[in-house]
Amino acid sequence: MVHILTPPAVDDVGLIDDVIAERQTGVNAAFFNGIAVEWRERVQSYLDGRGSPAVVERWPAAEARKSTLIGLYTHPAEGSAQATVLNNLRSHELVICPACGEAGRPNTLDHYLPKRLYPQFAIVAHNLFPMCDACQKAKLEETGDAQNPRFFIHPYFDRFSAPKLVALRIEPPFSTPLFELTANPDLHDHERAIVAIHVEKLEVTTRFASFFSGAHRRVLRLAGEIREGGQDLVAMFGYFRGNACAISPNSWDFIVYDAVLSNPELMNFLQNGELPPLL
Ligand SMILES: [Zn+2]
Repeated sequence: MVHILTPPAVDDVGLIDDVIAERQTGVNAAFFNGIAVEWRERVQSYLDGRGSPAVVERWPAAEARKSTLIGLYTHPAEGSAQATVLNNLRSHELVICPACGEAGRPNTLDHYLPKRLYPQFAIVAHNLFPMCDACQKAKLEETGDAQNPRFFIHPYFDRFSAPKLVALRIEPPFSTPLFELTANPDLHDHERAIVAIHVEKLEVTTRFASFFSGAHRRVLRLAGEIREGGQDLVAMFGYFRGNACAISPNSWDFIVYDAVLSNPELMNFLQNGELPPLL
């Protein structure tokens, strides 16, 4: 699931100054000089508002020139101020998607506030973070609505009262269980609300259904092997959970082992039940 990221070490207001300075001899010099003061203020308000679409306003003057502003992101001149920032953001070493936890290097940068709706933030580093293709396809240009003014966790700004954001319930029959993914009940109400809508909008439960089934089969197989070897199931699974937690309390392996160990009925089944034959 979600991984909280260290915010980029970029002075985004200073970046705007640099971009404007680089455009003093270009065909768009008058446009950029005309928006310079307000652009800086808008970027500062993004940072102050922690990127929330509930408080960060759209800007009609920027939207009217969105192709110019988005062009800074899509076609940055080599060596330009924003090219350096974008290259640094793309040279990350993440091995999981920060939005959903899918294993593998996230290939794209996502605009937390979409660049077509908020072109003034197209190159703002704090509005950009790595994301997997599946998350980006689900997120598209959504930001929020009247009922839920903010749909998505902001990996640079959101911080939570508990490290684990979701909880997995594994319901009987344990040979072919049902899985229920919810926000961690230990979180505060407002935290659970943003986690729940984030999971829903990124279609996490559907996308990871086959992962849950596969992980459960692995748990059954391991339980059988541990029983055959005469080892302590609680200790062994605790060891697996500890290893997974070292990666992150939001890694899917941790969430699965935590779901197993915190489910007395399932643990009893794994220790004493008739385990199904596995392929
Ligand atoms: Zn993802």
